[in-house]
Amino acid sequence: MSWANLKIRRKTPEQIEKMAASGKILADVFLEVRRLVEPGVTTGAIDQRLEEMIRDAGCVPSFKGYHGFPASACISTNEEVVHGIPGDRVLEEGDIVGIDIGLIHDGWHADSAETMAVGEVDPETARLLRVTDEALWQGIGEIGVGKRLSVIGTAIEALAREQDFAVVETLVGHGIGQKMHEDPQVPNYRCYSMPDPVMDEGLVIAIEPMINVGTKRVVTLEDGWTVVTADRKLSAHFEHTVAVTAEGPRVLTDRPRRTP
Ligand code: MG
Ligand code: MG
Repeated sequence: MSWANLKIRRKTPEQIEKMAASGKILADVFLEVRRLVEPGVTTGAIDQRLEEMIRDAGCVPSFKGYHGFPASACISTNEEVVHGIPGDRVLEEGDIVGIDIGLIHDGWHADSAETMAVGEVDPETARLLRVTDEALWQGIGEIGVGKRLSVIGTAIEALAREQDFAVVETLVGHGIGQKMHEDPQVPNYRCYSMPDPVMDEGLVIAIEPMINVGTKRVVTLEDGWTVVTADRKLSAHFEHTVAVTAEGPRVLTDRPRRTP
């Protein structure tokens, strides 16, 4: 564990206010995106519309061009875990679709994701969405100044296991600020191989559990981006950008929760 190399950029209260402004815009984008998700729409059309919303708000979609990523959002359906490329895929009744969006406003990043039901989904699929959303919030609920970062992943993993689901381990959350990905990494499970810093006031992190119905193992498709479950069973992903404050966690991308 190379603790010495950990570069945590703590934010001042003024900087957190700027990140909150970014987060509010992103939350509002999600409220609109929810209205777009329905049977018959393509993932490409959703991406196009949300990019317009981001640019109309005076922001930049941070994923576009990131390591060559071709779109403004990662849109991942069913067995796709994350990093799906929007395109011609038509959403169908009963699908689930994970939408992950990042934007930059006034130099400050916000990053959030939500997995949505397309029309009606079966009860087991609905349970996956509810548990993943709840796991994120239980992780957030553990945040506190002076506590170790690992309390987050420990809480997420505990709920997932209790519900007989599996947490993806090879993809993790991250610090966020003037860069999309900053230190520290934020695992969604009790991890013994990464630095486990104490949370201080001003730490801002993106917490993003990916939870699978079957195996925790994932593979990347030949497009070089799309991560799918190794057994092709369903996966869900929820993410918020959260600041650690003296008063507790402040969810900068907060919006009304909505799961089936
Ligand atoms: Mg994200
Ligand atoms: Mg993220």
